[in-house]
Amino acid sequence: MSSASPVIIITGASKGIGKAATIAALEKFNARVVAIARSGDLLNELHEHVSKVLNKGDQLELVAGDATNKDIVQKAVDTAVQKWGRLDSVIANAGVLEPVATVAESSIEDWKKLFDVNFFSVILLAQIALPHLRKADNGSIVIVSSGAALKGYRGWGAYGSSKAAINHLTNTLGVEEPNVTTVALRPGVVDTGMQDTIRAVGAEAMKDDHAKFVDLHREGKLIDPKTPGHILSALACNPPKELSGRFFSWDDNEMKPYQPSV
Ligand code: NAP
Repeated sequence: MSSASPVIIITGASKGIGKAATIAALEKFNARVVAIARSGDLLNELHEHVSKVLNKGDQLELVAGDATNKDIVQKAVDTAVQKWGRLDSVIANAGVLEPVATVAESSIEDWKKLFDVNFFSVILLAQIALPHLRKADNGSIVIVSSGAALKGYRGWGAYGSSKAAINHLTNTLGVEEPNVTTVALRPGVVDTGMQDTIRAVGAEAMKDDHAKFVDLHREGKLIDPKTPGHILSALACNPPKELSGRFFSWDDNEMKPYQPSV
């Protein structure tokens, strides 16, 4: 195995965008990956796929657990360093949408639970990984954000606020960590379990905003998770130092070199 093969931790790797990013990192960039998610059974299925289809089972380590738990994140970092001697990148992808409720009708406890996953788990991962990322030749932190960071959607106050907060965290890390490239990505409207949740539970709180997502699904316009998965793993494996600290949409010009070829 070439020492150029990057070592990456990916959170939320059991499904959707994180699973696609894990497969792309292994298949397209020959990376070595530590995958974190709570669903151990789904992680095992992913490992089986990677072993059988890609013949790269020895390049994927699994850590089943909660990305908000310090011991789990520490275990993932220790696994990478003990098995492969280094850590080059983390992709902070784990995220949840709920509570889907207006500010007036949601509880602070539910906002805090969402912030634990969408925001504080990203800080935790960055803090534990940074000592290793700083030592890497081209270390990076790639954060999955959302268009909701920039625009208010009815019923998405907690979600959008958490994504705005990680965009600011991205700005801050860009300033504070000159030897580590930090970028945040809006992955587009992607065909994953999160979109299923929007369609299933969003109608009442989102009102008119809900129809947009139902229509995109009905018209077959949701993006395949493989597209943002490829961009995230490309950013992690070849981080663009000059873009550090910034937030991009998956279809921005700056992301063209990272998009999959059609
Ligand atoms: P998804 O299919 O629901 O996947 C979410 C992933 O996050 C799962 O692997 C889930 O795994 C993991 N996760 C959730 N809570 C976790 C926790 N506490 N600890 C560890 N893992 C956790 O949704 P997705 O669309 O792929 O979402 C991935 C990211 O993309 C999220 O940050 C989301 O906000 C962002 N995003 C998605 C869209 C979209 O249209 N889909 C648009 C903009 C941004 P377990 O349940 O197994 O733990």
